[in-house]
Amino acid sequence: MNAPIQKKGMSVPKTMKAWVLDGPERLRLTEKPVPEPGPAEVLVRVDAVAICGTDVEILTKGLPAMIGGGLPFNKNFTPGHEYMGTVARLGAGVDEWRVGDRVAVEVHAGCGRCERCRMGMYTSCLNYGLNYGESSKGHRANGFTTDGGFAEYAVNQVNTLIHVPEGMSDEEATLIVTAGTATYGLDVLGGLIAGESLVVTGPGPIGLMSVAVAKALGAQPVILTGTRDARLSLGKRLGADYVVNIRKEDPVEAVRRITGGKGVHYVMECSGADNALNEALDMVNRGGRICLAAFPGERVPVDLAKLVRNNIYVYGIRGEGKSAVHRAAALMAQKRFEAKLMHTHTFGLEDLPTAFKYFRERIEDAIKVVVKVHGPKNP
Ligand SMILES: [Zn+2]
Ligand SMILES: [Zn+2]
Repeated sequence: MNAPIQKKGMSVPKTMKAWVLDGPERLRLTEKPVPEPGPAEVLVRVDAVAICGTDVEILTKGLPAMIGGGLPFNKNFTPGHEYMGTVARLGAGVDEWRVGDRVAVEVHAGCGRCERCRMGMYTSCLNYGLNYGESSKGHRANGFTTDGGFAEYAVNQVNTLIHVPEGMSDEEATLIVTAGTATYGLDVLGGLIAGESLVVTGPGPIGLMSVAVAKALGAQPVILTGTRDARLSLGKRLGADYVVNIRKEDPVEAVRRITGGKGVHYVMECSGADNALNEALDMVNRGGRICLAAFPGERVPVDLAKLVRNNIYVYGIRGEGKSAVHRAAALMAQKRFEAKLMHTHTFGLEDLPTAFKYFRERIEDAIKVVVKVHGPKNP
């Protein structure tokens, strides 16, 4: 449980511990001023932050994080985007939130001015990247274009905050945004109707969450494919009706076998494998839909004739738009799936490099590795 919270104003220090990215693979723990929330912003005391595959990319290559229009190295930049915490201070004009509220945070705050933002597609904001160095104007993505959560405090735009359901641990709450990405993918596919069939390819965090969310929404059957038995059995615990180890059985044949030759309505592609889209084309039925939540590093050949002839729709998603995170949080509040099964390890803020090592090398089957910044740890 959380420590009691002083509701009327929380004491906030002037400086805080924060990790900054000096160069590739060079994270350094330092002391920074605690940021001040501006209009429509709150200061979040970071309680827990999960490590994501994208954090590893930022650590090694810099991109997709960009600070001041360039690589994020040696700019006193703090990465980390899958965090949750407690509202510690309110900026001018904020009456939607109170000090002491427990919140999870979305990565993207859209500019709120462009066509896409007005459609709810704020993760595809047309002003992305136009606000470097001037966060009050335009889109920002915490842990990508502005400071993130590998620190004791972070500033967030009010639109990026989600209430953490009562009784949910800090560690589990860091997974709300991942569930939101899965929910957004299913939204983009047209919204899942109970009884529709789905294949999820790739049992990483987004794939596993896609299984859980789809099952919670009534998908039937849900088939998960992957290479690691431990991940696949976790997929079963999260609701998959069938799992297919593609080292043992051809995934397209397996899907055909399970569906009696019909194929499925939808594929959520979460593996990023070179041939994944071609396989997905063979898994969906005519008129079916495919959502790409992962992608290969290089250009890959695709059987476009098959796509056109079979009237197959393909979508790409970026992050989690259309308030999908709120819907994901609602499913988690109703305990429709056990997201916490994906949380495997917890470390302290000082141990961030060890936490990264566990995540990257999948030590002890690590999936979601959480760094606990404030408050007691939950197993
Ligand atoms: Zn992430
Ligand atoms: Zn915008």
